[in-house]
Amino acid sequence: MAILVTGGAGYIGSQICVDLLALNKDVVIVDDLSNSTLEVVENIELISGKKVHFFQVDLKNKIELDLVFRTFRFSEVIHLAGVKSVNDSIQNPLEYYSQNILGTIILLDCMKKNNVKKIIFSSSATVYGVPEKIPIAESAKTEPINPYGLTKLAIEQLLNALANANKDLSIVILRYFNPIGAHESGLIGEKPLSKPNNLMPFITQVAMKEREYLNVFGDDYDTKDGTGVRDYIHIADLSSGHIMALNYLDDFKGCETFNLGSGTGFSVLEIINAFQRVNGIHLNYRVVEKRKGDVAVCIADIAKAALLLNWRPNKTIEDMCKDSWKIQQMQSVALAKEEGIIIEKRKYELWIPQ
Ligand code: UDP
Repeated sequence: MAILVTGGAGYIGSQICVDLLALNKDVVIVDDLSNSTLEVVENIELISGKKVHFFQVDLKNKIELDLVFRTFRFSEVIHLAGVKSVNDSIQNPLEYYSQNILGTIILLDCMKKNNVKKIIFSSSATVYGVPEKIPIAESAKTEPINPYGLTKLAIEQLLNALANANKDLSIVILRYFNPIGAHESGLIGEKPLSKPNNLMPFITQVAMKEREYLNVFGDDYDTKDGTGVRDYIHIADLSSGHIMALNYLDDFKGCETFNLGSGTGFSVLEIINAFQRVNGIHLNYRVVEKRKGDVAVCIADIAKAALLLNWRPNKTIEDMCKDSWKIQQMQSVALAKEEGIIIEKRKYELWIPQ
């Protein structure tokens, strides 16, 4: 039996695939490569020394997805494929509803037809909207304030309804807080194909001197230093949360939701300082207007995941800053090589699998 990872060539999916392969699982990736490249699939294989089955398929393409389901027998599906920019979702709600919701409906239909009963769904802390209480528990109210969050919540509701209707289904919903960092090899990590949306990719671009300044969105929030506070979680810890959720699905039926965060908050200035300290790099930044729709503080209560999944994050903010910088450097070196640009030797080592 194989595990299907939709969006397996993406930032989070690729880490999960590496961890699954390390456990000798048979991994099938379905990804439309809209925000990734084939090189990521090659790097998953390079890191793990194992083969994955890869299909460039858009989940909305029912015929092709059906074909994948008829080629393999899946024990579980880890469903990460989707579009994920809050800003884009406000500009293009139709695309977000279609890609995320329609894509998921077609996937669930294929699962039903092929008798696949276990799924882990990649959701987001965005479903909470403006939190009433910090840290945020899974039982907090869900009132997303943008179309992206609304699509995630709609899928969560659908999954809960399915579990109610069919007592044979095993579903875990994971609400991610702010994933950063990269695989320790520096071979896979966040490589947005278009302008980034999140703090860490902007920081690394400023560090690379691809951008002059980091814009700090507001410094008069009611927080320790006035800048926004978030719960950053290393991608390796996030991935291990999925592995623990897979174990949980072994003897669980129903639908259960878990937060995956570190349970600790860092302000924008604390992240800037940690990045500078760990990597010995100066970051130019300036404080600008608050970004519309941002909340002051967002921190996860991770007690439920600790209790039921037996999962705990291990990485420090220093690990996150170090690994985020490493992947950016590796990416730039690869690009420079491709374009035949001779670059000065940088501080990094190529990681070779044992
Ligand atoms: N942020 C910032 N400058 C940027 C991007 C983000 O100051 O260029 C801040 C943002 O206001 C928030 C934090 O960094 O307080 C994390 O933002 P991100 O977009 O990464 O995550 P989200 O706001 O979606 O949790």
